[in-house]
Amino acid sequence: MSTPTPTNVFEYAPAPESRAIVDIKPSYGLFINGEFVDGNGTSFKTVNPATEEVLAEVAEANDADVDEAVKAARRAYTRVWSRMSGAERAKYLYRIARIIQERGRELAVLESIDNGKPIKESRDVDVPIVAAHFFYYAGWADKLKYSGYGETPLGVAGQVIPWNFPLLMLAWKIAPALACGNTVVLKPAETTPLTALLFAEICQQADLPPGVVNIVTGAGETGRAIVSHPDVDKVAFTGSTEVGKAIARAVAGSDKKVTLELGGKAANIVFDDAPLDQAVEGIVNGIFFNQGHVCCAGSRLLVQESVADEVLERLKRRMSTLRMGDPLDKNTDVGAINSGEQLKRIRELSEVGDAEGAERWEVACDLPTKGFWFPPTLFTGVSQAHRIAREEIFGPVLSVLTFRTPSEAVEKANNTPFGLSAGVWTDKGSRILSMANRLRAGVVWANTFNKFDPTSPFGGYKESGYGREGGRHGLEAYLKGADQ
Ligand code: NAD
Repeated sequence: MSTPTPTNVFEYAPAPESRAIVDIKPSYGLFINGEFVDGNGTSFKTVNPATEEVLAEVAEANDADVDEAVKAARRAYTRVWSRMSGAERAKYLYRIARIIQERGRELAVLESIDNGKPIKESRDVDVPIVAAHFFYYAGWADKLKYSGYGETPLGVAGQVIPWNFPLLMLAWKIAPALACGNTVVLKPAETTPLTALLFAEICQQADLPPGVVNIVTGAGETGRAIVSHPDVDKVAFTGSTEVGKAIARAVAGSDKKVTLELGGKAANIVFDDAPLDQAVEGIVNGIFFNQGHVCCAGSRLLVQESVADEVLERLKRRMSTLRMGDPLDKNTDVGAINSGEQLKRIRELSEVGDAEGAERWEVACDLPTKGFWFPPTLFTGVSQAHRIAREEIFGPVLSVLTFRTPSEAVEKANNTPFGLSAGVWTDKGSRILSMANRLRAGVVWANTFNKFDPTSPFGGYKESGYGREGGRHGLEAYLKGADQ
């Protein structure tokens, strides 16, 4: 097999998006009861992962701050939000959705600066789906009696989210909670707090009653204070399986309702009858979208043995055209790794792959000297026992395995502690259906990958968590149930 020359074949002039549209303040407080307040704790810095530039100093909420936020949410729940008709609540959600659209460029630029993701993703994927989520759940607010889950809200929701899709995860949490009549205390991840704080401004702009949405920033301790607060009725967490398990233990024995959206190790399965160029696009999208910082990333490529060489050759050629660099450049395909800590994890697990005997191939490119970067990489010669085939790398690293028969593909795909997503590439509709029935994954994409829509439920099996977000099913997490 001839290995393609690993250089970028096209030359582009830089096309950076202007950052003049965002107004990053030197410091940020907590958003409690409709206002920004100083907080009683210390503060932390948020940095631009592409440059290591310190962007702002952000308040770190302590137990007392979290208590204030929960009290504000409880007051707003009891006095205003749960008493308001669904049709009235919907008006606020529609207003928020429209403001998100109006301020879409500002949100996208800020997200790319704080997170490191390419502007074409934050602009064309994240922000439009965020607005769509608010529109979608606004539509449910006055139709809850048809949901099948009753129409009684739970009360105060404590929500903790990760850094990979800061604004999108916020929308997945806040939109259904508010539509169902709950109020929320949400904590963004410590490396990506800025778009959540801009969302707080949007809540002010939308005249959302004070206390309905509270945003408290901080790290693990702040998250712990939220989920263990006795007056929180519902815990919604998206993040690592390890922290998800700790949260499940912390709330065990309480009457809190819990949903956990955790890690994944998705198999992207390519059969020999698949349209190979499209499959290669799907493989690239599956693992290099958002630098592979995607819970449902197609991080295990299972390719049928008869086409393995050809797929790998085309894949390497395609990977060599990926443009890595300034997240604000509209040409950029692969941006920065979100933090130094995450980069260290990706490096360590990749070195384990080397030590286990897998063969590493990476795109040859000049990495910027500042910031956190990891080139798009694939490992061949991977066996199921290898740690790079079992553990979530959460970076732009693909493990390639082969199979001969559909049954072997199913067995290998399901041989994982996770069960979040999978992809199937084949020409045969009947095979798609049969594979989808046998794969233990919450979402199975056919001849596509990483497609999201607010109408479609998303969630996992096994160590990928429980509960569903999105669609009608997503309402269940925020309602007491049909018989209450
Ligand atoms: P993480 O678990 O380290 O952190 C997630 C959030 O939890 C952060 O806000 C963090 O501050 C907070 N936190 C940390 N310790 C806590 C504690 N003891 N109690 C309460 N909160 C605590 O995860 P991460 O590294 O930020 O995110 C990456 C992980 O998220 C990956 O494993 C990924 O698969 C997962 N993820 C899952 C989904 C999904 O829908 N299943 C979506 C996105 C990300």
